[in-house]
Amino acid sequence: MIQKYDVIIIGAGAAGLMSAIEAGKRGRKVLLVDHSKKIGEKIRISGGGKCNFTNTNNHPNKFISKNPKFVISALSQYTQNDFINLIKKHNIKFHEKKLGQLFCNERAQQIVDMLLLECQMANVILKKEIIITDFDKQYGQYFISAGSDKYFCDSLIVATGGLSVPKIGATKLGYQLAKKFNLNFIETLPALVPLTFNKKILAMCKELSGLSLKAVVSFNRTFFEEGMLFTHRGLSGPSILQISSYWKLGSNIKINLSPKLDIFKLLVSEKKKNPKQDINNIISEILPKRLAHILCKENDVSGNISELSNKLLKQLSNSINIWVINPTGSEGYRTAEVTLGGIDTNEISSKTMMSIKNPGLFFIGEVVDVTGHLGGYNFQWAWSSGFVAGQYA
Ligand SMILES: Cc1cc2nc3c(=O)[nH]c(=O)nc-3n(C[C@H](O)[C@H](O)[C@H](O)COP(=O)(O)OP(=O)(O)OC[C@H]3O[C@@H](n4cnc5c(N)ncnc54)[C@H](O)[C@@H]3O)c2cc1C
Repeated sequence: MIQKYDVIIIGAGAAGLMSAIEAGKRGRKVLLVDHSKKIGEKIRISGGGKCNFTNTNNHPNKFISKNPKFVISALSQYTQNDFINLIKKHNIKFHEKKLGQLFCNERAQQIVDMLLLECQMANVILKKEIIITDFDKQYGQYFISAGSDKYFCDSLIVATGGLSVPKIGATKLGYQLAKKFNLNFIETLPALVPLTFNKKILAMCKELSGLSLKAVVSFNRTFFEEGMLFTHRGLSGPSILQISSYWKLGSNIKINLSPKLDIFKLLVSEKKKNPKQDINNIISEILPKRLAHILCKENDVSGNISELSNKLLKQLSNSINIWVINPTGSEGYRTAEVTLGGIDTNEISSKTMMSIKNPGLFFIGEVVDVTGHLGGYNFQWAWSSGFVAGQYA
């Protein structure tokens, strides 16, 4: 069977659904295909089931890309307020959790249902469980094949996402398609992902598993002050996930476990004022008890503070204010929220999301070398880039 559409979109995730709605609203005959049985799974499981769908502080500096200016146009063509208005139109209740992060009050599935309804209203034809076996350009048109079926179109939008969480449908198809059409590609890596460590630090993480505290985690000049969590696999929590998008294998990260206090200054003053105080008790007043105990043990300090040299106090203070550790890796795509890298943005028009070399071929969402910070920015990129492609496809 051969069918002809104006626009075909591969991938019915956040970006694909948005582009389908917009192209459909323009009266284009749109086919949206996905290999999954369930549509919008990533949206459904996101934000702990409540979907952190955007951020009120949205700004181009919240995105990582080889070309940092690339996102400016799309983010201004479709802003966080545009998506908030869509949510309001559908009467979906939401709240700000922290730092401008907006979540549904009830269920993330409401966002999926809203997008599917908008698709229906825009006459988008949605086909699930389509396994694409071939794609190319023929007679001046793009086509995709699924077994014996062949679908032709004027505009092909690739919205296949990244490589994270393969068990809910991530594939390399978008990257393969880009390769076929000679587009440059930026190496991919798991991002917004927990970090793993050598035996010694892992043992400490296991012992402290479940403990969380506010910390400043930095890599070179980039730093994040948010929650950090010890787990039985290493370190996680927002500050670690954020820094994982910047950290390079083989390099150290720096952690300040007590960002508000200069521990050395405090200990020197305590030594003068209350020389008989037990060091363990002092540190336990500053940090959670379990962590305080481990740090004192690791630094071999115990007893009255008056009996401890300033050198030893400095060493202990540094392990709190400037804890330098060397991650051995990350938990990988299995748990990563996003994929760093992807289709080189220099290959794509930032105004339209169309390939510069291949008119009619568009790339949107996470498949492109654009990665947002934690906090709703990745969905905003999907909505904005999807909207833009929908205007031009
Ligand atoms: C657990 C988790 C929680 C997250 N929480 C948040 C959050 O709260 N806020 C936020 O901003 N971001 C969050 N993210 C990131 C966000 O989900 C993604 O950045 C966003 O979904 C990317 O949208 P996309 O449309 O580009 O890709 P996706 O949403 O991944 O969609 C890609 C689609 O393409 C389909 N596909 C792939 N290969 C093929 C193929 N070969 N043939 C046909 N179809 C194919 C897939 O089935 C999928 O439907 C989270 C990610 C994860 C994994």
